[in-house]
Amino acid sequence: MNALTVIKEAEKNLHEYFQELEEIAYQNGIKVLKAFQNHRVRDTHFNSTTGYGYGDMGRDTLEQIYAEVFESEDSLVRSRIISGTHAISACLFGLLNPGDRLVSITGSPYDTLSNIIGCGDGAVGGTLIKRGILYEEVALDAQGHPERENIKAILSKKVKMVLIQRSRGYSLRPALSPEEIKDLVQLVKKHSPSTIVMVDNCYGEFTGLLEPTGVGADIMAGSLIKNPGGGVAGGGGYICGKTPLVEQVADYLVAPGLGKELGPSLGQNRPMYQGFFLAPHTVLQALKVAVLAAYVFGQHGYEVYPRWSEPRNDIVQTIVLGSGQQIKDYCQLVQKNSPVDSDVYLEFADMPGYADKIIMAAGTFVQGSSIELSCDGPLRPPYCVYMQGGLTYEHGRYVLAQLVEQIILKNNE
Ligand SMILES: *Cc1c(COP(=O)(O)O)cnc(C)c1O
Repeated sequence: MNALTVIKEAEKNLHEYFQELEEIAYQNGIKVLKAFQNHRVRDTHFNSTTGYGYGDMGRDTLEQIYAEVFESEDSLVRSRIISGTHAISACLFGLLNPGDRLVSITGSPYDTLSNIIGCGDGAVGGTLIKRGILYEEVALDAQGHPERENIKAILSKKVKMVLIQRSRGYSLRPALSPEEIKDLVQLVKKHSPSTIVMVDNCYGEFTGLLEPTGVGADIMAGSLIKNPGGGVAGGGGYICGKTPLVEQVADYLVAPGLGKELGPSLGQNRPMYQGFFLAPHTVLQALKVAVLAAYVFGQHGYEVYPRWSEPRNDIVQTIVLGSGQQIKDYCQLVQKNSPVDSDVYLEFADMPGYADKIIMAAGTFVQGSSIELSCDGPLRPPYCVYMQGGLTYEHGRYVLAQLVEQIILKNNE
């Protein structure tokens, strides 16, 4: 059997499921379109400001559009926010004061956040814990689901903020659905109404019809080189939430009293608009690639998370390969078949913010963009790759055909 036959067989069986995903992209695409129309977007919005960035209509209108689409009161969408980690970090440092308690209620947070909080092994200065913020975690249960009773118990203490991570990150647990997030928000608000519910929404945007702020989260953050940048934004991050919270974070990022009114767009408005317009479609491409990967690897006996037919609430596809060498081979094939840096040789290496050595395939137009087809894995058991993105389904399909040939069929010979 050749690789393309495997792919075509898979596609026959995935046809109906792909249609369901297309319907989600359709509805989200229309929602974004309507928001553009409601805010009367004109090409003058793509003009740029410099210096202080006062009166940047394009920037302000885009923030209103994000707020409308993500059903939040206000938002901050800036190219000066470097990454998802930066956006989340700004929320934590902007909203927490010494003596406040932060509780992660979905187990250990994403690798780069453990440094910010100060709960990792890295000797970093200026962490939340070093600044006097109290930090606790409520572990997930054995199946990777939040433990309601333990969350309830910890809320008997004074908790300023709970942190929920929607995506799986570098773990095998399932991503949380908007309904599960809603359930957690209600649990927290019932037992501690004043606790701020903050969601790390990285990789979750547009995978379903609802976002965390639409189901009651007070604030959420994400990266523009992931889903909402649509593969077009050259960088940036967003924060959406209740107005006073967004303003407080803006004041932290700029200076007290200056906040949202400052910030030149420096030529980034047009790609940020265009990327947001494309985002539901781009996320669809990424989801279809992920489902196809889950299907072909799953059918050939690999452990995959999620399986093709399981619900998806992020764009990440995990495939357990079982050894560092296999991770390296897999990532190298993804790199080799990328449009950019296709001749780069990959190695496991230390990366800022990560405790284990990491290998990353990112032959991308925007450096490190993981809404573009990319793949990475930490050098630690159970030795999995986390694959995500894909600007076009066709590219993902081609790369998967190479992976089927070089990894699956070769090992079965
Ligand atoms: C990607 C990601 C982040 C932030 O990572 P950056 O590379 O800094 O954008 C945070 N949390 C989760 C779950 C992520 O997937």
